[in-house]
Amino acid sequence: MRLSMAAILLCGSLVQGAYAQVPAPKETTAGPAPAGPQGPFRMPASERRNIADNPSWTAPQKPFRIYGDTWYVGPRGLGIFLVTAPAGDVLIDGGVPGDAPLIEANVRALGIDLHDIKWILNSHAHSDHAGGMAQLARDTGAQVIANAADAPLLERGGRDDPEYGDRFPFPPVHVARTVTDGEVLHLGDLLLTAHSTPGHTRGNTTWTWMSCEGARCLHLVDVGSLSAPGFRLIGNPKYPDVLEDFEHGFAVVAALPCDIPLAPHPGMVDFWERVAKRERGDANALVDPAGCRAYAKDARESFEAQLAKQRADAASARRP
Ligand SMILES: [Zn+2]
Repeated sequence: MRLSMAAILLCGSLVQGAYAQVPAPKETTAGPAPAGPQGPFRMPASERRNIADNPSWTAPQKPFRIYGDTWYVGPRGLGIFLVTAPAGDVLIDGGVPGDAPLIEANVRALGIDLHDIKWILNSHAHSDHAGGMAQLARDTGAQVIANAADAPLLERGGRDDPEYGDRFPFPPVHVARTVTDGEVLHLGDLLLTAHSTPGHTRGNTTWTWMSCEGARCLHLVDVGSLSAPGFRLIGNPKYPDVLEDFEHGFAVVAALPCDIPLAPHPGMVDFWERVAKRERGDANALVDPAGCRAYAKDARESFEAQLAKQRADAASARRP
């Protein structure tokens, strides 16, 4: 169920031509859109419509402690995480364009100064996770750090995506620093590791770090999206090696040390069900050492079904 929920969410919206956006950027709370290389950002009408299909992506959610120094600061439907440390704080992902004020309000509600955020990491360069990053970087002064393979897509604001083309742009993000597979970022004592889990995008990244409560330190994993919503898996000239990339991603996620699985879309790891269980008194409800493996297995099965269908369709199209 865990993947199918996310897949329905993503694919469902794609069928209608998008994977979502904020409401009409009511010329957003952010004030005027920043001018990028292509001029001020303008959200296409198709993206505006899609917010209606994914209202959780902008739905307020009270921030809370996940474990140790890891906090949930996103809207209800997008996993956006803050990891705090004496040397500075790290934000992972930025929601859809227009989500920045909500995320910033959540950070402040935790008593944290926005300027304590030193880095903003990205899971992947799609508009539902990178859309608010330009504004967040501006408002916090933080550096954006992203996988080298996604940096160009971030810098061009999601345009010319190998699967989506120009359908889902976002305000271009200046990437101050890039990372490659296995690279460990050090912010004082806080270590965050970038694991390349490509396929969903070329630079799709699973971030891992540890958070402690007393002497109990746990592996937290923000698993990269392993879905292929609406993707052309065979013969896409813009991504000819997409199958190999997905295979690599499944294997990486399945093998990670994983105590608390988190995800850019919380439904990918049944996050809210676990939170509800914890609220009912099960203090360990977020801990699931098999969670990453289970997610990878479900994702692989969905992917293989999707691929088999595309192969069958291609074969029948070739028949006279
Ligand atoms: Zn995506």
